[in-house]
Amino acid sequence: MLQETADGLYCPAGDFYIDPWGAVARAVISHAHGDHARAGSASYLCVDSCAPLLKRRFGADVPVETRRYGERIQLGSTTVSFHPAGHVLGSAQLRIEGPDGVYVVSGDYKRAADPTCEPFEPIRCDTFVTESTFGLPIFHWDPTAAVISDLLKWWDGNRSAGRASLLFCYTLGKAQRILAELALVTDRRVLVHGAMIAMIEAYRAAGVRMLETSALVDLPRGASCAGELVLAPIMARGTPWMRRLGDFSDAFASGTMRVRGARRQRNVDRGLVLSDHADWPALLQTIRDVGAQRVLTTHGHPEPLARYLKGQGIQSGVIRTAWEGEAAAEGD
Ligand SMILES: [Zn+2]
Ligand SMILES: [Zn+2]
Repeated sequence: MLQETADGLYCPAGDFYIDPWGAVARAVISHAHGDHARAGSASYLCVDSCAPLLKRRFGADVPVETRRYGERIQLGSTTVSFHPAGHVLGSAQLRIEGPDGVYVVSGDYKRAADPTCEPFEPIRCDTFVTESTFGLPIFHWDPTAAVISDLLKWWDGNRSAGRASLLFCYTLGKAQRILAELALVTDRRVLVHGAMIAMIEAYRAAGVRMLETSALVDLPRGASCAGELVLAPIMARGTPWMRRLGDFSDAFASGTMRVRGARRQRNVDRGLVLSDHADWPALLQTIRDVGAQRVLTTHGHPEPLARYLKGQGIQSGVIRTAWEGEAAAEGD
């Protein structure tokens, strides 16, 4: 039912590609991250809450068709539907029912609660294509509330010391999740890098409740950033934009921060282990929940997970992508 091609994963029975990296006739998109949604295809199909994010990335005139979660779509000899993946706003798993049974392609997902998107819904299937961005037993996340409490303590410590708190995080998903989680415990305003504004606005337009934000560049001339929390994409690091901050402490929010070497490599004062992907226990739990006889792993660390599943007597294999290793994953 699914074929690996030079443009990405293809379903011949339905004549569509899933998250293709090439430019194709019909792209079915799991979510708006750069390693899943690429510009240049002739048509896009995604869940309705994903479309505004795609338009922010590709322009308002991108040819996109939308469906609601759970709505059934006839494509060739297949029936296709989107189901919540709990990864970021507008993220979806794709259920494909065809002559060879039921396939579910997870896209990126997580099982932890997230105030910015609908929770992951386990879908029974024969073949489950699971992401494996953090497909190693070392990846195990702490409860979100504990991570947010650490973040607030770090911010408060920097406030007392008269420093800014510069938190690097992904522009789509992570930034909004942090702003929404913080809104449950404080009502302070947060400063953001200009590159983050469009996606924050898109989330606000979708009704996600988050802390108030202002662009750092809109601060009055000479205003101090001491005591402020500032969110920025990692690419802002070392740019002239940083000069406005004055004295600061920095941190990076990502699942990769679980690994000491990654923290050293990023060379930040603090690693905040907060991921929008399933950790190792959540991957295994999900594979049990969907009850599939066959599991195909993709993205990040597909081999270790496939090998482990084989050891458990589950038929498994790897689907290659253009995005191997952690460096390639967006929003991790
Ligand atoms: Zn993603
Ligand atoms: Zn991804």
